[in-house]
Amino acid sequence: MTIERVAVVGAGTMGNGIAHVCALAGLEVVLVDSDQGALDRGVATIGSNLERQRSKGRISAAERSGALDRIESATALQRVSQAGLVVEAVPEIADLKYEIFDQLDRFAPHDAILASNTSSISITAIASRTQRPGQVIGMHFMNPVPVMKLVEVIRGLRTGDATTETVMALSRTLGKVPVEVRDFPGFVSNRILAPMINEAIFTLMEGVAEAEAIDTVMKLGMNHPMGPLALADLIGLDTCLNILEVLHRELGDDRYRPCPLLRQYVAAGWLGRKTGRGFHDYDGGR
Ligand code: NAD
Repeated sequence: MTIERVAVVGAGTMGNGIAHVCALAGLEVVLVDSDQGALDRGVATIGSNLERQRSKGRISAAERSGALDRIESATALQRVSQAGLVVEAVPEIADLKYEIFDQLDRFAPHDAILASNTSSISITAIASRTQRPGQVIGMHFMNPVPVMKLVEVIRGLRTGDATTETVMALSRTLGKVPVEVRDFPGFVSNRILAPMINEAIFTLMEGVAEAEAIDTVMKLGMNHPMGPLALADLIGLDTCLNILEVLHRELGDDRYRPCPLLRQYVAAGWLGRKTGRGFHDYDGGR
C-alpha cells in the first residue's frame, strides 16, 4: 500500500516534527490539534525549523516552500478522513489515546493505518479500542524528529504483516531507519532510557552532584551527546514521569518507581525546555 496523505494528531513537540518530515518527503499532511494556540505554535515551529535547514544548505528554498504548502492544519479530528496513515502524537496518557483511537477508527478511511507515537503505552491495548487491530501499529519517532534517524516500529499482538511492511517502507521514504520491536512496556528505547534518566534524578536528589556535573560525567565519561538531565528537559518532564509510571505499573517492579524529585518538578510546572525551566534553566532564570 502506498501512502500519499498523512494526518498527524497533536501538534506539540513530536507532532510538528512528524508533520515536518512527512511534508518534506512529498506527502500531503493535515496537522490536527484540539488547541488552536498549540496548532499555531506547531505550524510556526515547522516554518522556523525548515528555514534553519535551508539556511544551513540542507534543503533548497523550493523544498522548504513546497513542504509548507503541503501542510494543512485543523482543529477537528474529522479532518483525518482522507488520510492513508494517521500518526497520533497526543500526550502520554492511556485514556486519552484510547479515546482518540476510538474516534480515529470512526473518522479515518476503513483501509487507513492508525499509528501511535506513544513512548510506552501498549499498542495491543490501543489497537483493541478499534475495529481494525490489524491496522494499528506503533511508530515511535525520536526527538527532534527532523534530526533523529530512528523510528522504533512496534508491532502489537494483532498488527498485520502488511501494516508493518507499509510502515517500515514509509519510514525509509522519510529518510529514517526503522527498527521493528515487540510490544512490551517502554519497548526497547524507553525500557533502557527512562530508568537511566530516573537514576540521574535520584543522583541529583540525593546530592551526589549538581545537575551540570551529572550531565558532564555522562557526556565526557560515557560519550553521550547530551547528559540525562538535559535529555529529560528536552523530552519533557511530564512525558518522562508518564513513561516511568507505565513501566512501574505494567512491569510491577519497583526499580521503575519515579523519583519523588521528578514528581515535584512536574507538580511545580517545571516541565523542561517547553516551559523554560527543568533541571536546567532555559529562560535566564526569569
Ligand atoms: P506535547 O505535550 O508537546 O504535545 C501534545 C499535543 O497534543 C499538544 O499540542 C496538545 O494540544 C495536543 N492534544 C492534546 N489533546 C488532544 C486531543 N484530544 N486532540 C488533538 N490534540 C490534542 O507532547 P509530545 O512531547 O509531542 O508527546 C506526544 C507523544 O509523543 C506522547 O505519546 C509522547 O510519549 C511521545 N514521544 C515524546 C517524545 C519527546 O521527546 N517529547 C519522544 C518520543 C515520543
